[in-house]
Formats: sequence, C-alpha cells, structure tokens
Amino acid sequence: MEKFITKAARLNGPYDIELIDRELICGEDDVIVKNHLIGICGSDKNFYRGFMPPKTAEFRQDPKFPFLLGHESGGTVVAVGSKISQYKVGDEVIAFGWNNNYAEYFSSKEFQLQPVPEGIDLDIASLGEPIACAMYSGMNSGVQLGDYVVVMGAGFAGQIIAQCAKHKGAYKVIVVDVLDGKLELAKNLGCDVTINSTKEDVASIVNELTNGRGADVVVEAAGTEESFNTATEIIKHNGKFVFYSWVTKPITLNISRWHDDGLEFINTCLVHHTWQERYVWTPEVFKPIAQGLINVRSLITNEFKLEDIKAGFDLADKDDSAIKIVFRP
Ligand SMILES: [Zn+2]
Repeated sequence: MEKFITKAARLNGPYDIELIDRELICGEDDVIVKNHLIGICGSDKNFYRGFMPPKTAEFRQDPKFPFLLGHESGGTVVAVGSKISQYKVGDEVIAFGWNNNYAEYFSSKEFQLQPVPEGIDLDIASLGEPIACAMYSGMNSGVQLGDYVVVMGAGFAGQIIAQCAKHKGAYKVIVVDVLDGKLELAKNLGCDVTINSTKEDVASIVNELTNGRGADVVVEAAGTEESFNTATEIIKHNGKFVFYSWVTKPITLNISRWHDDGLEFINTCLVHHTWQERYVWTPEVFKPIAQGLINVRSLITNEFKLEDIKAGFDLADKDDSAIKIVFRP
C-alpha cells in the first residue's frame, strides 16, 4: 500500500488553524489525489469562527475540535487502491467530499470524486463543488423569459446565479448585497440593477421597478435573517421563493405572506445531497461554463500558498469583500 506524507490543515479551535503532517495510506478502495487548488467555503469560514454546524450525513468526523477541514478542491490522481475501477493515475478529478482537502494530497473514496468535464481547466474544476451547487441553483430557479429576478447576496453563488438568470432570459436581474465592491462585480458580470441594502430600501426599489407587482423570482443566497425577510417581502403574488443558503442557526421569519400571497418555494440547495444526483448533474452544470456563458474566473479574488493558510483564513474572516479565496499547494 502506497503511503503519502502531506501537509494538511487542522482547526484546533476558533481562529486556531495550523498545517500538520499527515500520513495517507492508499487502501484497497481509496483514491489519493494531488491537489491543484483549494477554496475556502462559507461553511469553512464559520468553522474558523467557531460555529460548528449540526452533524450531517456529509461529515465523516464529528463536527468538533480539532477538526480536519476542507472540501473544495480538485487535482490529479496519484494512486488508486486495488478495488478502484473508475479512476487511474493521471486522471483529473473534482472533489465532492469532506476529506481534509486543505492539503497537498487528500484521500478519497471513488464515489466522492467526479471526472473533470471536457473543456474545463483545473483551476475552475478545483472549485467544482461550489460551482456545481451554484449552477444547479441558477439552472433550476424557475426563471422565465421576461421575469424580474432578485438575487439576495452577491457572493460566489449569488454572482453565478445572477448570470444564469440573465442567460435564462430574465427581463431585469437585480442583485442585492451590503458591499459595494461585490455589487460592482455583479454589474460587470451583466446584472441590470444593484442595490446596497445598507444604504437603500430594497422593497421600495423593487416595488418601483416592477410597478408595484413585486419580483417574479427571488433567490436567497445571502443566508441572513434580514435577507430571508426581505425576500419574503419583495416577491410578487404567486411568485417564486428560491432557497439556496445554508442557515445553521435558528432565525425569526415573518411568513404571513407565504400564506397570504401563495408563494411558491423552490429548494435548490445542495445538488450533491446524494452522489447519484451529483453524477447526473455535474456534467450538465459545467456545460454553460465550458461554453463561456458563465464567468467564474473573476470570482477568484485572492490566492495564497497553502503554507499561508492562517493568512488566508484571517482575510476570509476580516474582509467580506473577498469572494473566493483559494490556496495553491
Ligand atoms: Zn463548500
């Protein structure tokens, strides 16, 4: 059995992250991957701040400290166990599992990988997991030709979902965020209207734009109580409320309109809830990217060396204008 020594990140407690040496042994059903690029997920940022999520099926370890974190990456297969049939050394893969991916190498099971689709380079493929989630939401948001669409949150996902809405034929795509820098990027990537919710009243602007009707579709991709309540307020009668965010803390919602205005709910969270669904969807969601319709490269705002993991996480914690922070091993 082949062995690999790798630097890998361990979160000892809130704001306490370090690279440790780990030994990876390629067992009969393991695939060892040499990482190309690793992204910080919003959830990783929460863990770094000390907010651990409820235990879910996705976790292969208890969500408690010390925590071996990292899941957004991709790279090249360097070893396969004797029972592996779908991958061979040299294959390029996207990671879809929580396998301590802030590392030079990670060990994975076959079902937690996905081949890199044709026409996608490894920088983009390494962000395959967050891209797949956002693209799945954008492609399944129910947007129709002529719709007024509001995207709450101009982070990595919101930026992709807004671009999808435009390509799906929305009449106007309106992006809401609290940071001007993110809104400016949304504008550069093709949205029609931006609203800074700390400076302007979202409901009255949407009301004015839609002649008092409200938005046909609102995608919630900010994940705050305020954002959920604003979304509820600005959807038209019988309009579509599209879920995207993972909210792990209880929040208070004013849901009277959910009943009174017959809102429709579309859950676009987590395309890879099961690996069977993920196998089906991943090649589909990458087609528009390979075609050049959706700009993902502009969303990589900061790059660090893996050894500077602490600096990368500190930036993620302090600078909300960073959209996707990546590490290169
Ligand atoms: Zn993620």
